[in-house]
Amino acid sequence: MSCTISSAEGLAGQLSEQKAAFIEAGAVSASERRARIQRVIDLLVRYHKPLAEAMDADFGGRPQGFSVMNDVVGSLASLKHARNNLEGWMQDEQRQPFAPYDQLGAQAWVMYQPKGTVGIIGTWNAPLFTLLSPLAYALAAGNRAILKPSEVVPRTAQLIAEAFAECFDPLEVAVVTGGVEIAKAFTAQPFDHLVFTGSTEVGKSVMRNAADNLVPVTLELGGKSPAILARSADMEAAAARIAVAKGTNGGQICISPDLVYVPRERLEDFLGSLRTAYSELFPTVADNPDLVAVVNGQHLARVEGYLQQAQDAGARIESIPEALPANADNRRRPLRVVIDPPRDSHIMQQEIFGPAMVLLPYDEIDQAIADINARPRPLALYYFGEDLAEQRHVLAHTLSGGVTVNDVMMHAAMHDAPFGGVGASGMGRYHGREGFLEFSHLRTVFKAPAHDPRREWGLLPPYSEHFLAAMEALVTPD
Ligand code: NAD
Repeated sequence: MSCTISSAEGLAGQLSEQKAAFIEAGAVSASERRARIQRVIDLLVRYHKPLAEAMDADFGGRPQGFSVMNDVVGSLASLKHARNNLEGWMQDEQRQPFAPYDQLGAQAWVMYQPKGTVGIIGTWNAPLFTLLSPLAYALAAGNRAILKPSEVVPRTAQLIAEAFAECFDPLEVAVVTGGVEIAKAFTAQPFDHLVFTGSTEVGKSVMRNAADNLVPVTLELGGKSPAILARSADMEAAAARIAVAKGTNGGQICISPDLVYVPRERLEDFLGSLRTAYSELFPTVADNPDLVAVVNGQHLARVEGYLQQAQDAGARIESIPEALPANADNRRRPLRVVIDPPRDSHIMQQEIFGPAMVLLPYDEIDQAIADINARPRPLALYYFGEDLAEQRHVLAHTLSGGVTVNDVMMHAAMHDAPFGGVGASGMGRYHGREGFLEFSHLRTVFKAPAHDPRREWGLLPPYSEHFLAAMEALVTPD
């Protein structure tokens, strides 16, 4: 289809047309919002097969069933949750006016109004979900949107653009495609809200650009999510769940566990269980269609570079299921487990975002907590253990975007609870009512009573001698 936007001028024109259409239309009814969300749902139902094929081709190997589960069904869950709940979320909310106006017939309420046009920039690792899950809540809040898919998955990006061009009036939802230059131009536009999913480094420049237009931002970033295995944990069960997580999308997930803290004396046990569990899931590597490949040569070189550097620095590295001779034409790799590498190695500093993880032995759990707190705040934290007091201690003494206890990544699948980062892992949130609130303007309305008592109570100039005393009488500690 030819109406894809791929230039900064085209984008600016589309945005100003959307903004004009938003103002022209005025209030956006619940049924209009539901109809827009339904159109995205219908688009996914219609295009899910070619989209899964495009993701498979873009990754050089991504099981279509996995793409349907992660990107299509995952997006549908957000869209349906938003569609089914938006009418309750959008109702005005009565609030209690202050005394004495509450006695005089004043009224107050909060309106949840759409902001206008939301710009949404997505990543390659979950190319549909990072666009369509925020879109669900942006549309639920009554906004229009312009999407920018990642250029790292070009077939998927093009298909998203074509599908939206076919199913939507671009005055409601439009798609712009292109690389870093168009992405930079995107973040320089006067959107009414910007959602960026991507790396922490790029997130900083997104926020700088958005600041020029005072555009509010939701930054869904990454980082090194830790898992703490307590002494009370069932190591075998923990290993099985961590194996599933590291095998999901080839480890290319924002909340994949990067650093796993294990009681020192249990490290070999855990490693053995991890080897068994991961090998059961993926007995072979190079020819295994269930294994998601590293998305491109550049990302493969990045992950392999971290591993090489750790090895050169003397770290022990285990390959699961087996070490493979490097083959540049095939980007599937075994899981590499790096054991206690030097603190200054790249793999200890950079987000791995690939088929590797780090095991860190600890003696006391407070050492693990201190290590986590000395690092940038992570997007997720995992605690495996059966000691409730210790679980509370870990949660009270750490901060992360979200938490899953006794499993990995599950909290992100909650439709009815916010998802987002804190500190270096991002700001703002979507999913659930909090997603609706993120993309709404919370507008307080105070309706004054007919009678204004301030003159008769001596509260207006010219002030009487009693005014100061009356004010001071209100300065009370309770
Ligand atoms: P990225 O930051 O390289 O790119 C993300 C998007 O930003 C792409 O669409 C790209 O075109 C655009 N972009 C690139 N340079 C830009 C610039 N200078 N200004 C504006 N936009 C620019 O990230 P990626 O490699 O696609 O994704 C991996 C990262 O995303 C990881 O850090 C991962 O943890 C994070 N992530 C976070 C979440 C979350 O929900 N918090 C989800 C998925 C991925």
